[in-house]
Amino acid sequence: MYYGIEIILIFVLGLIVGSFSNVCIYRIPRNESIIFPASHCPKCRSNISPKDNIPLLSYILLKGKCRNCKSKISIQYPVVEFLSGLIYLIIYLIYGLSAQTLIYIILSSALVIIAFIDLNEQIVPDVISLPGIVIGFIISFFVTYISSINSALGVLVGGGIILIIGMAGSVIFKKEAMGGGDVKLAAMIGAFLGWKYIVISLFLGFFVGALAGIFLIMSKIKSREDVVPFGPFIVLGSFITLLWGEKIISWYIGF
Ligand SMILES: [Zn+2]
Repeated sequence: MYYGIEIILIFVLGLIVGSFSNVCIYRIPRNESIIFPASHCPKCRSNISPKDNIPLLSYILLKGKCRNCKSKISIQYPVVEFLSGLIYLIIYLIYGLSAQTLIYIILSSALVIIAFIDLNEQIVPDVISLPGIVIGFIISFFVTYISSINSALGVLVGGGIILIIGMAGSVIFKKEAMGGGDVKLAAMIGAFLGWKYIVISLFLGFFVGALAGIFLIMSKIKSREDVVPFGPFIVLGSFITLLWGEKIISWYIGF
């Protein structure tokens, strides 16, 4: 087989970073340090020992309950870990051992953290998106797969599209359709992926978001007045694009 031990290693790396992402998802909106103190149960505050802190495995062994107080551990923890492992693995399988893989796995972890914070708290944290815009642009000077002009255009096109749609939405629906957080998120993704990919990302995000919105309203899970965060859909669109963007473009040109 062409791929050996390294695909297991990259998956495990994703699991470990996913475990750390869970800490960020919980603590960043609460303005807590992401390093200190060590992991503890949010209910009983007891410290989680290293053997109970193994990604995926501990959740299964503990049957999703805190060892000390037996309160339920959110399914979000193993989901984030598994998702991170899976995304890392697919990125590696597509881009191989390259700078692009390294940058894309870092980007994808930042996006997973943003998506879940937005799902939970309906905010896109500036502490990730704003430095993300700058870092994405700086990186474009050192890599070959994206030019710095493309990166800068990505920031403007990504942020611009959401800004215009957000303004149009607030005029038409008389309420804020998309927040400033989404503008910064789209600008950040644009900085890393360039203008073409951010257009595809946002289109896919709108498409899946609209389908999900229709489903949620029809199944009466959400009402028309409820706010459905858009950040997770932008992130989903950008994942599809960073993995299969070239295929999507050549399929589109083929028409
Ligand atoms: Zn507990």
